[in-house]
Amino acid sequence: GKRAFIAGVADDNGYGWAIAKALAAAGAEILVGTWVPALNIFETSLRRGKFDESRRLSNGSLMEIAKVYPLDAVFDSLDDVPEDVKANKRYSGSSNWTVKDVAESVKNDFGSIDILVHSLANGPEVTKPLLETSRKGYLAALSASSYSFISLLQHFLPIINPGGATISLTYIASERSIPGYGGGMSSAKAALESDTRVLAFEAGRKKQIRVNTISAGPLGSRAAKAIGF
Ligand code: NAD
Repeated sequence: GKRAFIAGVADDNGYGWAIAKALAAAGAEILVGTWVPALNIFETSLRRGKFDESRRLSNGSLMEIAKVYPLDAVFDSLDDVPEDVKANKRYSGSSNWTVKDVAESVKNDFGSIDILVHSLANGPEVTKPLLETSRKGYLAALSASSYSFISLLQHFLPIINPGGATISLTYIASERSIPGYGGGMSSAKAALESDTRVLAFEAGRKKQIRVNTISAGPLGSRAAKAIGF
């Protein structure tokens, strides 16, 4: 069977969860990466059975998550992590959550994967029009929503089996002006789409690994509700 790592699952409302279920239904083993600040509540909810109804697959069985990895995809390695984040209780309460460390942990635990899913985005100023977006907010949107995919692919590439597949989720606001999708998120999705073409060439040549992105329709996820979509 195939093994999939899905980055960006912290509840049962988002695309990451739905993709995990589809892959589980197709027989894949499921590993997820959960944003560090959301880890506790996600693991507690899982353990207490809060997601049991939405874990149910069409054959009646429940999706199993083989392992939940804490992840913060804006940090490539511990050297990048500022002191205030290191000292933050939610971050100091777990370890090995940089992209490099998660890839290493997955390698140690499972050896390799076949499918890498990037289902995460963050834009701290998403509610602000681009015209009012700060440099800091814009760069943060690109870091969390675009570079995070480059970093994940860089670090996971050595453990993705040849013929494997990677996918991310984009949004039409990259191509057309959609009011409300601000803070540089439209730019972040445009970068993600361009990077997908370049990385598909590079990872395809290097290791026969596919790189794709899906422009998804609107879904009432936690992230979407936060911006009133
Ligand atoms: P979601 O809230 O379920 O998923 C986003 C996840 O990203 C959350 O679990 C959050 O904890 C995580 N995250 C944020 N910053 C992170 C970081 N630094 N490191 C690791 N994880 C981090 O919402 P969603 O809408 O399902 O989003 C999934 C993907 O789908 C995103 O790329 C989003 O832009 C895209 N998308 C969503 C819609 C929509 O309408 N919901 C439409 C098109 C594309």
